[in-house]
Amino acid sequence: MKEVITAICANFIKAHQANQLDGFAPLLSKDAVLIRFGRGTVTGHDVILNYLNNMSVYHRTQTVDYSIVDMPFWDMPVVRIHVHNEGLLFVAFRVVDDHITHIIFTPEPCDNYICFNSLELPPFDMQYIKEGVTEDMEPKEHHYPCMKCGLPSEKMRWHRFFTHSDSIHEYGGLLSVCPNCGCETEFYANMRLRMK
Ligand SMILES: [Zn+2]
Repeated sequence: MKEVITAICANFIKAHQANQLDGFAPLLSKDAVLIRFGRGTVTGHDVILNYLNNMSVYHRTQTVDYSIVDMPFWDMPVVRIHVHNEGLLFVAFRVVDDHITHIIFTPEPCDNYICFNSLELPPFDMQYIKEGVTEDMEPKEHHYPCMKCGLPSEKMRWHRFFTHSDSIHEYGGLLSVCPNCGCETEFYANMRLRMK
């Protein structure tokens, strides 16, 4: 699967650099979903292509570097886009039968110490999560889907969660768990506590 996704990342970069999405279009499934983290969702093959094309046109007016990096949380490669003067954007792909079902545009995993998502960390195990959950929360839209089954973020179980690793700093924030697969989908921390 990693090889397939690496090839998709390379195809995405090539398509954007050339502003020519014809080679990328057949990889996208008919009812694909593009999630703009925390902001909105774009649905359907043609609508997504149009959105990506507009992005590509805009990038041609900017200085942009593209590369492929590994994201430990998903244990898979993602596209890193550095738009100079604007910052970083990461693009992750969920792929089923060699076709993209989800594209996730996600901000920099760690932009400061009180607001980070867990993409730079591997997922926590479920026992560790159980011990750190303090309350249930309302589900959030336009966040990460389950990368295993594709369930959208608003159907996840959401919790207030604190890390408890016996380290100097612990983190608190929202954590989502897929009810189908029983795995962590996302940890978005907005609190840092000094413990010692
Ligand atoms: Zn799932």
